[in-house]
Amino acid sequence: LKEQKESSPIMEQLRLLRVGDFKSLPISVRENISIYDAIVTMFTQNVGTLTVVGENQNLKGMVSRKDLLKSALGKTDLQQVPVSIIMTRMPNIIMTTADEPILDAARKLTLHQIDSLPVVEAFIDEKGEERYEVIGRFTKTNVAKIFVQIGTLGKR
Ligand code: ADP
Repeated sequence: LKEQKESSPIMEQLRLLRVGDFKSLPISVRENISIYDAIVTMFTQNVGTLTVVGENQNLKGMVSRKDLLKSALGKTDLQQVPVSIIMTRMPNIIMTTADEPILDAARKLTLHQIDSLPVVEAFIDEKGEERYEVIGRFTKTNVAKIFVQIGTLGKR
């Protein structure tokens, strides 16, 4: 593996691949949805992480399986408490963009030990503040699929 480090054509090909070509659709909920409904959404949509958005798909936070499990262990009234109370919120969200190389996005997943990155487009809101519109998600599953695709290239 070491000798192949710099010049291998497969590495060069890999560096050209962008998040936008492999991303999945975002599964988003609004901030005021109850923790209970977020759990139901996670099951029905078959995802491990939900993006939490405001108006115009504006990124507010992320909520993961473990966030929901933790809240279900306590005495929290799951039907009453909104997901915004337990989510990881902006500006602490690690994001990616459609034009980011998949290698850099995958590095963010491993470095921060998270399963999913929201794919965003930056925009300026009416107050002149920078916001991020969620346009997709890039997950460990996407990385595994890319790995399998590359491994089976040329095979029939
Ligand atoms: P799980 O906790 O279900 O294993 P993760 O490892 O992705 O899922 O999440 C770990 C923690 O990181 C959770 O508290 C979650 O809210 C938070 N988190 C998830 N995705 C992100 C992200 N893109 N940026 C910052 N924090 C995140």
